[in-house]
Amino acid sequence: MTHVTIVGGGPGGYEAALVASRLGAEVTLIERDGIGGSTVLTDCVPSKTLIATSDLLTEVSSAAELGVQVPTSVRADLATVDARVLRLAQAQSTDIAHRLAASNVVMIAGTATIESAGTVVVETADGQQRVDTDAILVATGAHPRVSPDAQPDGERILTWEQVYALQELPEHMIVVGSGVTGAEFASAYNGLGAAVTLVSSRDRVLPGEDVDAANVIEDVFTRRGMTVMGNSRMASVERTDDGVLVTLTDGRTVSGSHCLLALGSIPNTEGLGLEALGMVLDDHGFIKVDRVSRTSVRGIYAAGDCTGVLMLASVAAQQGRIAMSHLLGDAVHPLDLGKVSSNVFTSPEIATVGMSQKQVEESDLQIDMAMLPLASNARAKMQGVHDGFVKIFSRRGMGVVVGGVVVGPKASELIHALSIAVSASLTVDQVADAFTVYPSMSGSVAEAARRLHPLV
Ligand SMILES: Cc1cc2nc3c(=O)[nH]c(=O)nc-3n(C[C@H](O)[C@H](O)[C@H](O)COP(=O)(O)OP(=O)(O)OC[C@H]3O[C@@H](n4cnc5c(N)ncnc54)[C@H](O)[C@@H]3O)c2cc1C
Repeated sequence: MTHVTIVGGGPGGYEAALVASRLGAEVTLIERDGIGGSTVLTDCVPSKTLIATSDLLTEVSSAAELGVQVPTSVRADLATVDARVLRLAQAQSTDIAHRLAASNVVMIAGTATIESAGTVVVETADGQQRVDTDAILVATGAHPRVSPDAQPDGERILTWEQVYALQELPEHMIVVGSGVTGAEFASAYNGLGAAVTLVSSRDRVLPGEDVDAANVIEDVFTRRGMTVMGNSRMASVERTDDGVLVTLTDGRTVSGSHCLLALGSIPNTEGLGLEALGMVLDDHGFIKVDRVSRTSVRGIYAAGDCTGVLMLASVAAQQGRIAMSHLLGDAVHPLDLGKVSSNVFTSPEIATVGMSQKQVEESDLQIDMAMLPLASNARAKMQGVHDGFVKIFSRRGMGVVVGGVVVGPKASELIHALSIAVSASLTVDQVADAFTVYPSMSGSVAEAARRLHPLV
């Protein structure tokens, strides 16, 4: 029986543990903070739970358009919201631990270092433990980047891991960083009723996303009263008597009650002993892996944020599963980033799959594009949805779907049809011919596909 030792209990680690156990391996999983990892305890699950409350309030705020009068004082009680967030995260962690236990995965609570490809040393509350193993998966994740001139204090200057300790809604939240995490939190606190300033070093929010989608979000943000400061690079953040002061590199200042730093992530690869093993890391400390999650050291695999391949829970989980299939001799499908679907949980959401507009523009392939505003969709009108669109990219000729973008409420659900199309290389005709419910938002997906029907 092969013995696999997994370091890190996030999706990169726990999904791998479940697959390895199913494939007949003896599995040990070492986790220092809590099963489920940052995904479940501090990042993905808590932020999406907070956003669920914010989305509800955003919907309520448009109730009058649908003929419902609501009191103007509808507000979230942040202490209750945050308590729910933390309770739910803990419950999810417990669920995963039960699944692992039921799959006979041995869990050790402690901090691991890797002595060799065959030995992991764990510092536990009861002392040191050595684990001899046949193979190792490193899935240690990442942590928030902070700057020496913007030190979080957990009260007013916060990382995304610290916001759930807030007992009252911030009067004025300054979010520094307009990538996915910054935009999601800015959207969430705006929806919850806080004044929000979003400080972006780039000329627009969400610089890594589809330009049309980012423009919709920036437009919605400003319409809902958020201050979006483009081309504004943070130099420092400091505490004042009653809040925070953010100073920009050009000398301007912004004051608020709280500041959330969303400056990106740093891989948890220091202190693991990887350099001593000769493992190849990149300049930022991410572990270099191939498409089946092998590192440069024989017998050691890596998955998830510590590899920096694509920092998503879904990708981490897939890398972990692939690693175990490769190690244990099961059929392996190497990681294909061209088929990943992802979502920005702003309000409205942005969901994407496959080739992006930027990749289309840089590609030698002949690609057609159709873009349909949701405002023309009957269901959207009924629901008072004004913002958003469906965009599809297809190969000229056969009309094979190669990518798509959906902006709208629940875009994360709507993208699935396009995700199946990209994954199975369906044509626009096949997408258009599948019945959609009338009236439905998904009708716009079929209609956009119909507009790409190849003409002979
Ligand atoms: C605010 C936020 C929201 C996000 N939302 C989404 C989302 O909606 N959807 C999505 O797909 N992705 C989302 N992500 C990204 C997602 O959270 C990460 O991609 C995911 O956590 C990566 O999983 P992982 O297994 O690599 O690492 P993690 O989930 O970080 O788990 C790694 C674990 O390893 C443990 N560890 C580290 N070093 C050691 C050691 N030496 N010994 C023992 N244990 C160790 C850590 O304690 C940690 O628990 C979000 C990220 C952030 C910051």
